[in-house]
Amino acid sequence: MLNVENTIQWMMITNEKYQEQKDYLTSLDRAVGDGDHGINMARGFKEVASALEEGSFSDVSDVLKKAAMTVMSKVGGASGPLYGTAFLKMSTACKGRDVDASVFSEMVQEALEGLKQRGKAEVGEKTMIDVWSPVAEAVKEEGTWEPVKWKEAAETAMEATESLQATKGRASYLKERSVGHLDPGAVSSFYLFEALASVEGAE
Ligand code: ADP
Ligand code: MG
Repeated sequence: MLNVENTIQWMMITNEKYQEQKDYLTSLDRAVGDGDHGINMARGFKEVASALEEGSFSDVSDVLKKAAMTVMSKVGGASGPLYGTAFLKMSTACKGRDVDASVFSEMVQEALEGLKQRGKAEVGEKTMIDVWSPVAEAVKEEGTWEPVKWKEAAETAMEATESLQATKGRASYLKERSVGHLDPGAVSSFYLFEALASVEGAE
C-alpha cells in the first residue's frame, strides 16, 4: 500500500535516479532526439523533491498532485506535460481512497490513458507508453502488491523499445534510423517503477 510517507519516498528515490542518470538519459536522447531528456527530468524532479520536502500533505492523491503540478511547470520538452498528465491522472484516480494494489492498478491504467490522449500515441510507437502499458497489464495481472514484478515488466518493455521504429515524438524524424536505440522516455519511465520497487514499507 502507498501512504503519504512512502509516496514521498517514491518521488525522492525517483529524483535520485534522475540525478544519477542525467547524463545517460541525455546521451540516449542525443541519439534519437535533441539531447535534453536527462536535463529535463533532473531539473524537474529536483523541484518535485524540494516541493515535497517543504509541503504537508493529507493523502497520496495530494502528494501526486503536487508532483504533477511541479513536473508540468518545471520539466521541459514533450516529457513535461506527459509526465504531468500521468501523475495528475494517478492523483485523481486515488482521491479519497486507500492505495492498495487494486487502486494502484486503476491509477496506472488512468495514467496510461492520459499519456495516450496527451501524446496522441499508441503502443508500439517507441515512446514511454511502451513501458506504461505493460506495467499497467502487470499490475492488473498480479492483483497483489508486487512492485518488483512490475519493475521487471518495465525493464523488459524498456529494453524492447530498442528494436522499435519511432512514429511519434522527435525520434520519428529519424524514421528507420531510430531503430537500434532505446527510447529515452521509456528508460526514465523504467526508473520511476524501479524506484517504486525500492520504496520501503509499502508491502
Ligand atoms: P523532447 O522530445 O521535447 O525533447 P524529452 O526529450 O524530454 O522531450 O522527452 C522525449 C521522450 O518523450 C521520448 O523519448 C518519448 O518517450 C516521449 N514522447 C515524445 N513524444 C511523445 C508522444 N507523442 N507520446 C508519448 N510519448 C512521447
Ligand atoms: Mg529531447
